[in-house]
Amino acid sequence: MSSVVNPSASYAGRLAPSPTGHLHLGHARTFWIAAERARTAGGRLLLRIDDLDTARCRPDYTAAALEDLAWLGLVTEPPVHFQSARLTHYRAALARLHAAHLVYPCHRSRRDLAGALSAPHEGNAPADDEPLYPPEWRPAPGTPLPALDDAGLALNWRCRVPDGETIAFNDALAGPQSAVAGRDFGDFLVWRKDGMPSYQLACAVDDAALGITEVVRGADLIRSTFRQLLLLRTLSATVPSYAHAPLMLDEHGNRLAKRHDSLALRTLRAAGVTPAAVLARFAPTGSPPTKP
Ligand code: GLU
Repeated sequence: MSSVVNPSASYAGRLAPSPTGHLHLGHARTFWIAAERARTAGGRLLLRIDDLDTARCRPDYTAAALEDLAWLGLVTEPPVHFQSARLTHYRAALARLHAAHLVYPCHRSRRDLAGALSAPHEGNAPADDEPLYPPEWRPAPGTPLPALDDAGLALNWRCRVPDGETIAFNDALAGPQSAVAGRDFGDFLVWRKDGMPSYQLACAVDDAALGITEVVRGADLIRSTFRQLLLLRTLSATVPSYAHAPLMLDEHGNRLAKRHDSLALRTLRAAGVTPAAVLARFAPTGSPPTKP
């Protein structure tokens, strides 16, 4: 009996909505591109619910997202992976960063950081990116770290970036990307004093743990990718490839946000728009992954 190995059968992608509002057309397009890439590669598509922000996430938004995805016909492989159920994995990852002395506790407030930023700085980071952390606020390397006990987990922890190192990746949709650590992005939060990992840590841990081979998401997260690549390397995890889809803009050129209720999938559905009509709008940008 001969066995034929399909080299792309190991493809694993994921959809990762945050249940902080209703899914809109922008999500639908990114998720459709992700689903098409997984389908074309003959791979799997997982669903991860990014529900760590307890102040903003709501179970009814999760239920609505599942319903909207089913309505669109975007099928993911069970089970659904809830980040809120994976805290032990994030704690273990923090412990590894701690053991490697790559994190330090940060006692600075947002206000401290905002004050520091009034000094001119040459970064061209978008307004919603995490601000550059002043390197002079870092503790000296080798400074003893507090233990990760209950008190330690109730601190903010930052990852120390390798200043001057260029982090680069070749994005399947957005082309070659690079950023210099310490210049384009600084020491970033990996853990919050409310006992929760940052998005960067949780995402890197999950993409590795779930065996994701290609991350497809919106281009607004390109800058996060540099941080996640550093974390994946530090955690000795396999690095996925990335495909950042262009963001959908509204008629004023602003990116769609969850407050654009008129473009929420459920609003469109209630107005009689069919899933086929929604998906038909995306076809030109959803080109399949190119084979090497
Ligand atoms: N949950 C994130 C969002 O909705 C996406 C995270 C990701 O794809 O890495 O913006």
